[in-house]
Amino acid sequence: MLFSDMKPSAIHAYRPETHMWPAPANSFLLTDRDGAILIDAGCGSPDAYEKLRTFIRNHGFNVADVHTLVLSHAHPDHMGAVPFILEEADPRIYIHKLEKPLARDPQLLNRSFDMSLITRYYKERLGDTDPDSINIIDYFKGLCPMGSAEATDTVREGDVLPLGGRRLRVLHTPGHAPGHISLYDDENRVLLSGDIIGKVVAWYCPSGGGARGYLESLEKAESLDVDVVMPSHGEDITDVAGAIAHTRDVILSRERLVVRALSGGSMSLLQLTNLLFPREHLRMFPGIQIAMSHLIKLQGEERIECTDWGNCPLFSLKRDM
Ligand SMILES: [Zn+2]
Ligand SMILES: [Zn+2]
Repeated sequence: MLFSDMKPSAIHAYRPETHMWPAPANSFLLTDRDGAILIDAGCGSPDAYEKLRTFIRNHGFNVADVHTLVLSHAHPDHMGAVPFILEEADPRIYIHKLEKPLARDPQLLNRSFDMSLITRYYKERLGDTDPDSINIIDYFKGLCPMGSAEATDTVREGDVLPLGGRRLRVLHTPGHAPGHISLYDDENRVLLSGDIIGKVVAWYCPSGGGARGYLESLEKAESLDVDVVMPSHGEDITDVAGAIAHTRDVILSRERLVVRALSGGSMSLLQLTNLLFPREHLRMFPGIQIAMSHLIKLQGEERIECTDWGNCPLFSLKRDM
């Protein structure tokens, strides 16, 4: 049978969402003659994994039948359970080439969240804490443990994965993570958006692609013909334009806040972080990373300046604008 003769598999969504962040991401199950295909795997706790197994079993398959695993990115809520899967199955694992080293090495993954901003700017608050011990993956492991793994295959923009009778085109959509991907089935007008649209939106950091990368990813999603977005967090989205506009608005409203504040005079990164994130518990993460993403974007557009970008105490608007 030719691939083109195959009927597209249903995309079964497993939504383990809890109210607590980081909640396990949705997983998607497709099937074909050879078995099952899984897109994202959820958190690496025995409990989360058991629920994923049950979901797979409820669709008539065992974990051992999973021959292909596609990872949208290397965050714990998307790939924590991979080592559990590998105990029972031997799938090919696809991930973007920028995420492959992060999926393998928790230290590298930690750095991809720009933890250095915390150790640099919150020195006084950290007291005796050894800056090197600040590890966001460890910090969240009680809620959503990471499970590192070696991907077998890397993908990049434009690759087409023929899975479950569908042609899933890889879109590189950074901002949230450097090698974040979304999967687009143009024949069936479905977009598996990963974390760029959905219930948990607009978390970004400089190393992930920042505010600028995120906005470009949204533009890419907006250019597609899509009836349904299946996000990694939350329910299916049919008001696709509305969801993209909402996410963009979250990002641009932060930018407007920064620009408005700087129009009143120079400000430091910490002052801007406090302004963007009035709730203190969000400031060290992801607050300062998001604030820095905006400063980098504005600097790239030559809208702000500082005397020494490498060690900038204060940022100000360019006056000739
Ligand atoms: Zn996520
Ligand atoms: Zn994520």
